[in-house]
Amino acid sequence: ASFSHYKLSEPIVRALDSLGYEQPTDVQAEVIPVALEKKDLVVKSRTGSGKTAAFGIPICEMIDWEENSPQALVLTPTRELADQVKEDMTNIGRLKRIKAAALYGKQPFARQKLELHQKTHVVVGTPGRVFDHIQKGTLDIERLKFLVIDEADEMLNKGFIEQVGAIIHELPEERVTLLFSATLPKDVEGLCHRYMSNPVYIEM
Ligand code: AMP
Repeated sequence: ASFSHYKLSEPIVRALDSLGYEQPTDVQAEVIPVALEKKDLVVKSRTGSGKTAAFGIPICEMIDWEENSPQALVLTPTRELADQVKEDMTNIGRLKRIKAAALYGKQPFARQKLELHQKTHVVVGTPGRVFDHIQKGTLDIERLKFLVIDEADEMLNKGFIEQVGAIIHELPEERVTLLFSATLPKDVEGLCHRYMSNPVYIEM
């Protein structure tokens, strides 16, 4: 199968082509069609499986370039992963001119605030700093449509799960939530039950 079999628009298919992504990985083949139908998803899969593009492709597809406030929020347990996701989504959305910003601690808040003032379709960040921006009103989440919780088990290990819950409480209820995790411990399952509606489970 190639990416042209999915309901993906030309700019996305061409961007994947230029990235050298010829075929979807297993996790992408499972996730992309379901995510495009705007269903909540719990995906058990490892790093290296192509999970970033599994959520990056459908989200970039569904983003409306015209909309002037963030439409997708990706929460990650580390800064390195936030940067990586930002880069991957920028590449996938390049021909749609999708803009992504990364937010994490140990970086000037003011600079991030300025960045958020510009057109930003996708925000990627660690829970602490993201929550900070929501509370200070510098991250507008009113028109958010997609939430991704990446490496949920690592969030748990780092003690970020409560902060993730606090962020979710602030978000619009009408949204698509996608959760990715290498393992599904009880507290991660709890998060799924509490904050997702009838999620589809995909285990790779
Ligand atoms: P990830 O699991 O998201 O960290 O991705 C692992 C690596 O696979 C990254 O370097 C991606 O650029 C690459 N990758 C993701 N999807 C594809 C694909 N469909 N074809 C080839 N490489 C891919």
